[in-house]
Amino acid sequence: MIGRDLLGIEDLDRSEIERLLDTADHMREIGEREVKKVPTLRGRTIINLFFEPSTRTKASFEIAGKRLSADVINFSPSSSSTKKGESILDTAKTLEAMDADAVIVRHEVSGVPRRIAEVLEAPVINAGDGAHEHPTQALLDAFTIRERLGRLQGVNVTIVGDIKYSRVVRSNIHLLTKMKANVTLAAPPTLLPTEIDKMGVRVVHNLDEAIEGADVVMMLRIQLERQGKLSFPSLREYYNTFGLTRERLRRAKEGVLVMHPGPMNRGVEIASEVADDPHVSVILDQVTNGVAVRMAVLYLLAGGGPDWRAPMAGAGDDR
Ligand code: ASP
Repeated sequence: MIGRDLLGIEDLDRSEIERLLDTADHMREIGEREVKKVPTLRGRTIINLFFEPSTRTKASFEIAGKRLSADVINFSPSSSSTKKGESILDTAKTLEAMDADAVIVRHEVSGVPRRIAEVLEAPVINAGDGAHEHPTQALLDAFTIRERLGRLQGVNVTIVGDIKYSRVVRSNIHLLTKMKANVTLAAPPTLLPTEIDKMGVRVVHNLDEAIEGADVVMMLRIQLERQGKLSFPSLREYYNTFGLTRERLRRAKEGVLVMHPGPMNRGVEIASEVADDPHVSVILDQVTNGVAVRMAVLYLLAGGGPDWRAPMAGAGDDR
């Protein structure tokens, strides 16, 4: 996969997804060492180009790059320049001219990472574009499910909430259906795009029905910044109908996993009693696994050394 872009899960096939997840397994182990650093991307430069604000994804890519010993530079152009297509490409080209080996792009407009990838030689990694895709989020979600349940095939995954404006859900649908998981979506009709059932998923409008028999319940944040105005009467009403409570979760299978990509709106899409319940919630595992998955992506695309399977010689050199 060296030199390729990662713009969306839609572009990946099953074996590439497996390769990324298997590589992340190894990277996860590096994160458990006392010295969480290996020299595999030493001397390479990775640019975090975030046009839209981000906390966890940006930090996660930065930590991932640093654990692989790359030099990571964070660049957050002011959002006023995001409307000017030309200046985005110029910004990206300028950064590449500084010999970037990979450019990670987040933008509020769908398709901008792909447009940037067309003009850059270096691999471009989409860190979230509008309501389109967020591929590393779906990979870390899949990694977490596979780690806990041992497989993806045949797993019943229920995804609840703002389907219309979420990029996380689109990447997850692509990934989970490619890996033969069973995906059920639940949302108010105003938050469901009309064509979504063509993506090989089951759509229901009732949360209790959607949770029945689920192995995984993934809650989505209400994307207020993309909705403009509320797509339902009130946040309280939303919580009463689609908020995940302990009571509602009883319908799921024994051992159900509760996931959320973050940031969470407690009391809107999820009750604290569920989010903080260590028996069901894997929300913080998702964050931990995000670093391993992003290490795997950077390693495979930016071309780390071939010795990654072995204990990496020189581990700890770059403390
Ligand atoms: N952090 C995820 C994203 O950037 C999910 C969210 O913001 O709700 O899409």
